[in-house]
Amino acid sequence: MAQAGPTDVDRAVAAARAAYEGPWGATSGRDRAKYLYRIARVIQERAREFAVLESLDNGKPIRESRDVDIPLAAAHFFYYAGWADKLEHAGFGPDPRPLGVAGQVIPWNFPLLMAAWKLAPALAAGNTCVLKPAETTPLTALLLAEVIGEAGLPPGTVNILTGDGATGQALVAHPGVDKIAFTGSTEVGKEIQRAVAGTGKKLTLELGGKAANVVFDDAPLDQAVEGIVNGIFFNQGHVCCAGSRLLVQESVADTVLDRLKRRLGTLRLGDPLDKNTDIGAINSREQLDKITELAAAGEQEGAERWSPACALPDRGYWFPPTVFSGVSQAHRIAQEEIFGPVLSVLTFRTPEEAVAKANNTPYGLSAGIWTEKGSRIFWMAQRLRAGVIWANTYNRFDPASPFGGYQESGFGREGGRHGLAGYLDA
Ligand code: NAP
Ligand code: MG
Repeated sequence: MAQAGPTDVDRAVAAARAAYEGPWGATSGRDRAKYLYRIARVIQERAREFAVLESLDNGKPIRESRDVDIPLAAAHFFYYAGWADKLEHAGFGPDPRPLGVAGQVIPWNFPLLMAAWKLAPALAAGNTCVLKPAETTPLTALLLAEVIGEAGLPPGTVNILTGDGATGQALVAHPGVDKIAFTGSTEVGKEIQRAVAGTGKKLTLELGGKAANVVFDDAPLDQAVEGIVNGIFFNQGHVCCAGSRLLVQESVADTVLDRLKRRLGTLRLGDPLDKNTDIGAINSREQLDKITELAAAGEQEGAERWSPACALPDRGYWFPPTVFSGVSQAHRIAQEEIFGPVLSVLTFRTPEEAVAKANNTPYGLSAGIWTEKGSRIFWMAQRLRAGVIWANTYNRFDPASPFGGYQESGFGREGGRHGLAGYLDA
């Protein structure tokens, strides 16, 4: 892959500026909607190709790229196509204006989906874009560039720059960019916030998380176990909103743990291109090292480690599904984002204790609540400090629903009407 340097960043930003001041800026909302619909349609038509490419590049199971990543990416373009000609009715004043050139930097865990989350609202609002995919997963963004060309958007409207963190840094620092949208680690997010401070650039940050998935004793336990599995083992746990801390009420803790272990014994780990695979590969050596180090820290700090019997392929990067019980709040595995298939289990006695433990994190992206009681769901949801809260389900996504965090999980929302706000001068 080419490593875009400062000259390439200059050229991409200049192309985006020319398109903004030229043909794309002159395109009506109604016509922008047509382009976005067209992109969505072509993603659907080429869905198999996108899914295979995504799994090859990222290592995620084909079942997930086929059933989740690609359909949701298309859905995102469909959804924002619907807004493009209705911006004056979106609640941002009678004549909301685009910002100009948006610089967008995305991570490797949902490569095409994150590109869609960034590009669709920006284009609907009338901006032009320069997007940098992650160094390890640029392929579907490049195929998307081809699709956007096929859809006939004016040259320069969308520019994709491959490269590593230095390319991202150059894009963020470029004076010709009006808006920065970043999804990635909290560490890099803070660096970007410092770089952008005082420049007048608008900024949205979608960062890490350490979500609590809270299971009460009256919850439908079999359903909850499925939700726990989906919450932390979907996409190998490379999910910012993963339910990585299981908080289970003490009276049912043993039952839940037993059923969870039995269920994990049935998961298949291996070839991402096999339709029966549940758990695919870890994206990079770097990520595998990080997961391995944090899991070792969990053991050293005294938590009990368990994995099902599971043979790891000898080529590639793999980590077995892992559960830590006897975790205390001070443990690193209860505080730091592991971003891998590792679940930390803590217990609680009362709802008040559940809230206190769930909120005991510098993050605030998501949470899950499992209970039969509707009133308890509302009581909990009012007290949990998280941008997204699921009740009796987990990891559900819809383009109409805003997504984003509090505290060290960032600010700004993607998806829904809220997702337009980051791309409008309103
Ligand atoms: P990362 O290291 O922060 O990288 C994210 C992106 O930023 C990549 O494209 C990266 O390039 C680039 N980058 C690295 N250093 C940069 C710099 N100094 N200036 C500008 N750009 C820079 O994160 P990651 O490890 O790839 O992704 C995992 C993290 O993303 C996790 O913490 C996860 O929680 C978070 N995440 C959050 C959300 C959300 O919506 N809140 C969604 C998905 C992921 P390279 O590819 O070369 O590193
Ligand atoms: Mg990185």
